[in-house]
Amino acid sequence: MFEQNCIFCKIINKEIPSNIIYETERVLVIEDLHPKAPYHYLILSKKHVENINFIGDDDLGIIADMVAVARDLSKKIRQESNLTEPVAFNLISNNGAAAGQSVFHLHWHFLAGKDLYKGGLKL
Ligand SMILES: [Zn+2]
Repeated sequence: MFEQNCIFCKIINKEIPSNIIYETERVLVIEDLHPKAPYHYLILSKKHVENINFIGDDDLGIIADMVAVARDLSKKIRQESNLTEPVAFNLISNNGAAAGQSVFHLHWHFLAGKDLYKGGLKL
């Protein structure tokens, strides 16, 4: 499924250039244009789904693929950085405008290499 005016669909279809980090059958990972951490990637569903509120039961496998990609990104950073411990990272998903979603195509922010909660948000 492709939405004509969706910037992420255009990136997935290579109509708009982006810095692709990783790609699987159902998931594309690009660099965030305004990084908030040393590693700040966007994990995109290749299928256009507005957000988690709109994902159908038949498409829940996409979420499993996105989780697997987050794990693989973490492993890749660990290997490239020669770390002995697993990499600490955050996955952030804004679902709906009031939750801060600005591009209405399912995506997660993957952030690593920085303690985002130091002195700040505690969950
Ligand atoms: Zn889209």
